[in-house]
Amino acid sequence: AKSDGKSTFSFYTLELTQRAEEQMQIESDIMLALRERQFYLDYQVQWRVSDLSAIGVEALIRWKHPTKGLISPDKFIPIAESSWLIEGINDWVLTESIRQLAQWQKQGVDCPSMSINLSAMRFRNSALIEQISNLLKRYEVSAERLCLEITEHTFLDSDPSLNENLQQLRSMGIRISIDDFGTGYSSLSRLRNLPVDEIKIDRSFVNGIENEGDALSVFESMLKLCTSLSFTVVAEGVETQEQLNVLKHLNCDMVQGFYLARPKSPELVIAHFETNNTK
Ligand code: C2E
Ligand code: CA
Ligand code: CA
Ligand code: CA
Repeated sequence: AKSDGKSTFSFYTLELTQRAEEQMQIESDIMLALRERQFYLDYQVQWRVSDLSAIGVEALIRWKHPTKGLISPDKFIPIAESSWLIEGINDWVLTESIRQLAQWQKQGVDCPSMSINLSAMRFRNSALIEQISNLLKRYEVSAERLCLEITEHTFLDSDPSLNENLQQLRSMGIRISIDDFGTGYSSLSRLRNLPVDEIKIDRSFVNGIENEGDALSVFESMLKLCTSLSFTVVAEGVETQEQLNVLKHLNCDMVQGFYLARPKSPELVIAHFETNNTK
């Protein structure tokens, strides 16, 4: 019977089956979550290093599952990315983050920049351009306030349509940022020609820079390289005052990290920005 059939499975097959089932379960949960509005965005402040002023935020998706509680994006984004569901998530994140910018504008909160994580495949389709310009028009938000983050892995294969789309977004005034830089093995020679404005150095490279060892030398070389190519550089995952001191000393442009601010709700994050109440 049923148990006999299962006993012929190898452990490996069983594990694969379980994983496939878990994947399917999460996929149907995501579908429901989109419909029932279980997602929300938290915002982490990005700081200019020279004067530690808040110059923008990064929108980070959160999933409050009705029975499983808070699920980390590291767990569900990769699963969503292996199916069409990521399209629904991308749409929702784009709309919600631009809507939030508009709401802050109405409240007189000046948040100069919103960084949005989009999955790689979205950048290959030119529909993104029209979608964003429609949203900007609808919510009366200026393109200069948007920065789109794309992971370095995307650039592993060169794709002319990707480059064209990025160029067009930039010509509208939208900035493009490479996320998790250093983890994707993009060739240094190609870095020179990438149509991007900003590089975010992955937090694994920030880790340990306060110890004046190899970690510091590696980080410093990456920073020098990016700066010499005139990219704005953001150091991710700054967790201590010592790391911040080093970054200040190295003239890194921007930082983000738990030491200065954790991701927060839209209501709490605005405390870091100037408010011009006109009412
Ligand atoms: P990411 O884009 O690299 O985002 C930065 C992650 O580092 C966030 O985790 C943030 O909470 C965390 N972080 C910030 N400062 C520190 C720090 O000082 N120390 C440490 N240890 N961590 C820090 P989070 O929010 O769990 O997001 C994880 C990943 O999920 C993101 O990595 C991104 O790849 C993905 N993700 C998040 N939101 C979205 C989204 O709206 N769309 C897409 N496509 N992916 C998203
Ligand atoms: Ca990011
Ligand atoms: Ca990152
Ligand atoms: Ca990441």
